[in-house]
Amino acid sequence: MKKIAVLTSGGDAPGMNAAIRAVVRMALHNGLEVMGVQRGYAGLVNGELFKMDRSSVSDIIQRGGTILRTARCLEFKQEETRIKAANILKAYGVDALVVIGGDGSFMGAKLLSKLGVKTIGLPGTIDNDLAYTDYTIGFDTALNTALDAINKLRDTSTSHERVSVVEIMGRDCGDLALYAGIAGGAESIIVPEKGYDKDDLCRVILEGKANGKMHNLVLVAEGIGGSNELAKYIESVTGIETRATILGHIQRGGSPTASDRVLASRLGARAVELLMEEKTCRVVGIRNNEVVDDDIDEALAMERKFDDKLYEIAKALSY
Ligand code: ADP
Repeated sequence: MKKIAVLTSGGDAPGMNAAIRAVVRMALHNGLEVMGVQRGYAGLVNGELFKMDRSSVSDIIQRGGTILRTARCLEFKQEETRIKAANILKAYGVDALVVIGGDGSFMGAKLLSKLGVKTIGLPGTIDNDLAYTDYTIGFDTALNTALDAINKLRDTSTSHERVSVVEIMGRDCGDLALYAGIAGGAESIIVPEKGYDKDDLCRVILEGKANGKMHNLVLVAEGIGGSNELAKYIESVTGIETRATILGHIQRGGSPTASDRVLASRLGARAVELLMEEKTCRVVGIRNNEVVDDDIDEALAMERKFDDKLYEIAKALSY
């Protein structure tokens, strides 16, 4: 192993820069050369590679987004595109590629590894939707961003004695909504893993008001969606003024939390160690606070476990 490359792919997440920094610095520390690839697989296919040194990753650990940019590249699903990518890496003398992204990006990495490029994946997504790792890089920051918004919405909801419906990102995974709901003291948390009944929800809101609650926070995961319609429904049934707020892409930005920076640094360093051990087609993650690595296929086949216990705690604490 002499030369590695690193790219970020799919949806961006805070902490991707900290992961890039860890990969670059750890590689250099071990005497490897490093190249950065701009714009994910799209940039790779276009030959957008450049040499990176220690200063290429100076002053980025605290920055949101990704200095390497990210992109979606549908053509990467075709083998001829991947062959082109493998040939470009070969032309640059690159032996291995670290891919920071989500499950789609990992699939691309797996297929690329079949063409002789060593690949290691790092979980960069705010959604926390990868079963093999307890946490993904970006989740904690997005959670804190959502929490900050919820705290603010609580102020104004209380002043106006309104119901506030807040839609949280996470695609089909309810973790962001669940954790934000617990941390923000939400009255109701609606996640795809559990589903909900609209009329039960309205009953809980009316009971809350009868018990003296001055506001009511209803968190809706992106995988459920329809917050505007839900707000109208709640208002029509309960007679309580209800507003919907869709937090949207604000949750993707911002300076990463300490937790995300530490996670990115640990996982990034491990990715390079694995490459030094000539490992390939693996993803790095964290389970029970231990850094782990798994075969990409096995990792993608794992079934995500929703934290039912946490969901029950949230319910018990909400009234
Ligand atoms: P994420 O990595 O966040 O899940 P996407 O699903 O958009 O995001 O995947 C990012 C990129 O990974 C895609 O634009 C594509 O280039 C590549 N990719 C996704 N799925 C596949 C696949 N089945 N085969 C090859 N490449 C894929």
